[in-house]
Amino acid sequence: MSDYDSIIIGAGHNGLVCAAYLARAGQRVLVLEAAAEPGGLAATREFHPGFRVSVAHTLHHFSRKIVQELGLTKHGYQPGELMNTTGLSADGQHVSIKGNLVKGVSSADAEAFSEYQAMLQKFAAALEPFWMKTMPRIGKNSLKEMLTFAQVGLKLRLLGADDMREFFRVASLPIRDLMDENYDSDILKAVLSWDAVIGSTQAPRSPNNTVLSMLYRMTGESGGAHAIPAGGMAGLVNALAAAAESQGVELRYGSPVKSIAVEGDENGQRATGVVLGDGERLTAERVISATDPKRTFFDLLGARHLEIEFTNRIRRLRTDGQVAKLHLALSGLPNFSGVDQPDGRLIIAPQMDSLEFAWDDAKFGRLPEQPALEVLIPSLREPGLAPTGQHVLSAHVMYVPRSLEGGWTETAKAELQGKVMQTLAQYAPGIEDLVLHAELLTPQDLEEQWKVTGGHWHHTELAMDQMLMMRPTYEAAQHSTPIPGLFICGAGCHPGGGVMGGPGHNAAGEILR
Ligand SMILES: Cc1cc2nc3c(=O)[nH]c(=O)nc-3n(C[C@H](O)[C@H](O)[C@H](O)COP(=O)(O)OP(=O)(O)OC[C@H]3O[C@@H](n4cnc5c(N)ncnc54)[C@H](O)[C@@H]3O)c2cc1C
Repeated sequence: MSDYDSIIIGAGHNGLVCAAYLARAGQRVLVLEAAAEPGGLAATREFHPGFRVSVAHTLHHFSRKIVQELGLTKHGYQPGELMNTTGLSADGQHVSIKGNLVKGVSSADAEAFSEYQAMLQKFAAALEPFWMKTMPRIGKNSLKEMLTFAQVGLKLRLLGADDMREFFRVASLPIRDLMDENYDSDILKAVLSWDAVIGSTQAPRSPNNTVLSMLYRMTGESGGAHAIPAGGMAGLVNALAAAAESQGVELRYGSPVKSIAVEGDENGQRATGVVLGDGERLTAERVISATDPKRTFFDLLGARHLEIEFTNRIRRLRTDGQVAKLHLALSGLPNFSGVDQPDGRLIIAPQMDSLEFAWDDAKFGRLPEQPALEVLIPSLREPGLAPTGQHVLSAHVMYVPRSLEGGWTETAKAELQGKVMQTLAQYAPGIEDLVLHAELLTPQDLEEQWKVTGGHWHHTELAMDQMLMMRPTYEAAQHSTPIPGLFICGAGCHPGGGVMGGPGHNAAGEILR
């Protein structure tokens, strides 16, 4: 008999979700995590004595279905209060959004925003069933699988003819066109574009799926608004780990998996367990990888076990991340000009072209002349993240290429940090004097330390050719893989990344089917 029914590689939030569902169904489950703590990119860690932070810093579409089914509230999860998002302007004329209300724009823009936002939320709700279901396999559809499409088709139809027409018209528009059609305020347009492009190799003018990405992020009860859960991101991660353990899941930290064990020959192979970094071998009926597809198939399994066509499809996946992360330990609260309290998300991208130009630099492998930033001071919500009276600043930095011309030398990192600090200082004069310690994580650092290929937000670019039943590629889009006994459940699976839990939930559903 195998040591376990399922071994899961990686205790990121998707690995934990998958583990909890499988154990709830009676399986003996072991989760092996390389890091010292759970959560993957959402893990909270000390980056300077007394100062703690997580790479992923807000929640905005974590699945309420998972919260209910895994009883996360009982395990300490409490969604935080929804945040303001403020678009900063150099002249202090900031634009502030809370829910479907916006301040700092003309009354025409304010009215258009409330109306159009409500429309987008209807579209997002119609798409919601799509994200929490396995995508049907192309060409081999059972009645149940066909019903997945029928259900979404019906939801869209129920929008009514006009709204449905509008949905199909806008779904593949560049976000810039949608913004220009609806609003006049440059800052409002840039702030709203942020959630359409962050984490991707697309900017406001890019055709493809920026509107769809924004709708994906608007799923759930907050309609796309961001929050920090009680206890910080650790509040969610700890609740997931506790929910898994309460179902009998064994969690082992500091246990990197070196390889996936495969038995058989050219007539048939099967994943039978894993080999750990220290040489220990563990067997299981199935191995489920919560790491990214390239790492799973190339580093842990080995291309020698795969057909060349499949290998090529995985090799071709676009996995270069474009977001860096800055963490500052601050001796006090910075003063952002014209902002009473720097609570919530502060976006530094005064117009859509601020994003476009930063992308123009990055797509040619250069540092952005003027980086665009999403700044958060999580210690204002969770004082325990910093010593009393001191603060943590956490900033997403766009666009920062994984493959920088000349490589990520210490000089290149220092140059980027200088540019980010200069940009911050334009809006928060004197902030440099508060800095006790700075940590800048490039996509390469995220790749090396968080073990995510390319340091990519979604593990694998979320673009039309890598979405839905093509995610990560169509032979692995139902979580099973060409190797029997090997499954995948991380952000590189449908529906994608962000701390939302869909991939882990859907993988468990397939395995238990
Ligand atoms: C800079 C940045 C900022 C982000 N900010 C946000 C945000 O604010 N809000 C949001 O919703 N999303 C954000 N995201 C996206 C989000 O963090 C990810 O999409 C999500 O956390 C992925 O979760 P996961 O469980 O699929 O994988 P991961 O979190 O990557 O977890 C995978 C786990 O596998 C482990 N692992 C890898 N290899 C091995 C091995 N060989 N053996 C054992 N363990 C292994 C890793 O250590 C890791 O713990 C951000 C992403 C980035 C890059």
